[in-house]
Amino acid sequence: MQNSPISPAKGSRKLLKKLSSRDIDVQTCYQCNRCSAGCPVADYFDLQPMEIVRLASYGMEDQLLASSTIWLCASCDTCATRCPNDIDITALMDVLRELALRKDIPPAVPQVPAFHASFLESVRRWGRTYEIGMIGAYKLRSGDYAGDMKLGISMLAKGKLSLLPHSIEGKPEIREIFAGKGKEYER
Ligand code: SF4
Ligand code: SF4
Repeated sequence: MQNSPISPAKGSRKLLKKLSSRDIDVQTCYQCNRCSAGCPVADYFDLQPMEIVRLASYGMEDQLLASSTIWLCASCDTCATRCPNDIDITALMDVLRELALRKDIPPAVPQVPAFHASFLESVRRWGRTYEIGMIGAYKLRSGDYAGDMKLGISMLAKGKLSLLPHSIEGKPEIREIFAGKGKEYER
């Protein structure tokens, strides 16, 4: 995390407004730590869910968007379910990821947005995932050419991966969904 001071006076009012408009009431957090204690992947985070909420309550956008936590969060919703104040921490992570992408902040874990982009590209094109195409696109984006090679070969051998893509009906509707993206936030 950056070493800049953490202070409400230095926080982003725009971020606080955004969270408020999404009904993500980070100000009600009383730091009980139930969210962090229940998170199944917290060991891999640089900031615990409770710290993310505290930084968000101060509007500390730069620290939040530079964190690995926002990319490693599995969106499992355990934290939000455990929160006694019903703070939607999962939605908070969504907002932070979205903001980081829109502001071109270099992601702390670049493999995650590379995977997301490859997945979405596959759905946009075929209406569903075409695994081999998606994996190829991910490898080109991430530069991780050798990773999971054995697993991929084994899946191919067992017929778990289709060599050719399958298209679906309703692709125009899928395209409409994609055409609407990007309208909910301003930079
Ligand atoms: S569980 Fe809720 S109230 Fe408790 S620390 Fe986490 S966000 Fe705050
Ligand atoms: S939604 Fe994210 S932060 Fe919350 S418990 Fe799951 S992985 Fe952890």
